[in-house]
Amino acid sequence: MPDIIVQKYGGTSVGDTEKIKNVARRIKKYHDSGQRVVVVVSAMGHTTDELVELANKVNPKPSRREMDMLLSTGEQVSISLLAMALEALEIPAHSFTGAQIKLLTDGKFSNAKIEMIDRTNIDSALSKGKVVIVAGFQGIDRDGNITTLGRGGSDTSAVAIAAVLGAKECEIFTDVDGVYTADPNKVKSAKKHKMITYEEMLELASLGAGVLHGRSVELAKKYDVVLHVRSSFHENTGTLVVSEDKVLEKVIVSGVTVKSDQARVTILDVPDKPGIAAELFSILAGSDVFVDVIVQSSPYKGRNTISFTTPRENVADAKTILEKFAGVHNITSVEVDEKISILSVVGVGMKSHVGIAADMFKALAQNQINIEMISTSEIKISCVIKDEHAQAALHAVHSAFNL
Ligand code: ASP
Ligand code: MG
Repeated sequence: MPDIIVQKYGGTSVGDTEKIKNVARRIKKYHDSGQRVVVVVSAMGHTTDELVELANKVNPKPSRREMDMLLSTGEQVSISLLAMALEALEIPAHSFTGAQIKLLTDGKFSNAKIEMIDRTNIDSALSKGKVVIVAGFQGIDRDGNITTLGRGGSDTSAVAIAAVLGAKECEIFTDVDGVYTADPNKVKSAKKHKMITYEEMLELASLGAGVLHGRSVELAKKYDVVLHVRSSFHENTGTLVVSEDKVLEKVIVSGVTVKSDQARVTILDVPDKPGIAAELFSILAGSDVFVDVIVQSSPYKGRNTISFTTPRENVADAKTILEKFAGVHNITSVEVDEKISILSVVGVGMKSHVGIAADMFKALAQNQINIEMISTSEIKISCVIKDEHAQAALHAVHSAFNL
């Protein structure tokens, strides 16, 4: 049996009919060379955003079920058009919605998790020599409702399908050439990686490097699927995302990112007793308030200061929760700073190198940039800084590590 190749084309790659025809021509080459091709596509261009706007015009708070029903239509347009474009090139193609390949998810609308994919229909189309085209981002729950995997979720659809089919590689075609040492739109001297590890990519995705959907990288790591992030506009190879043992030249720092649109919440007089942090962060999690950096001070007179960062869009929910929490625990002071960014350096080499934090802090100090919070993991150091310093900090740290 010929190898199965799974490819994913993002919204910009299928942004208009000319681009869809280009994608079809690219797929034809793989098909003609005898490979079995399974393609996952996103909605065309900004379709999904436009659908969100449309929904908001009829209801400012639409239910998540109906939202998924609406948003999933974007991908149905692109899969059928791509199949038609292939047919025009005399390549037999067959498009499938998530439901049609039984991409089963849990029932969490707008952020559903994949539970199972039935490969029967894909295999039967492949065995007839067809190119299979699957709608990204969508699935179906056990009750037959259409669900979506969260914005940007087509990457995750593609990797899950690659895993189920046992494909060795999943090509992610996008509008960037690969994964860089920093966002190339912000840092002109940023360099493209030939290879990067899943761990690094996971940190970079969640840090706002914005190339891949975070969950797609987790899945790729779990099922050992090599990701090839590359441009759909030319033939150059991009960046391979692989397991650590496959990376030959290990670098200490592989990337610097800055996450904007963040806020910091500080609770100044939290009682110093067991269970309080557990209570606070469980109710935040229960309301889907995303929390990133957390810092707690040493206790003073039976009270602690707890600060955490959250995306700005979660601030309203966080405030409502904290008002209640403050009432119950006699807390008098909660402050919110909505103008912060999180600057991070990432690299697997940090595991075995000391002094990276010091170098990062030095670069910031030389530029008079104050660090407001610090958090570290085995392969990442993050500093919370003022929004206004984000650009300067990114450049300073990127050049400090000679990236
Ligand atoms: N069309 C969806 C979105 O815009 C899914 C994707 O592009 O991956 O979020
Ligand atoms: Mg995307």
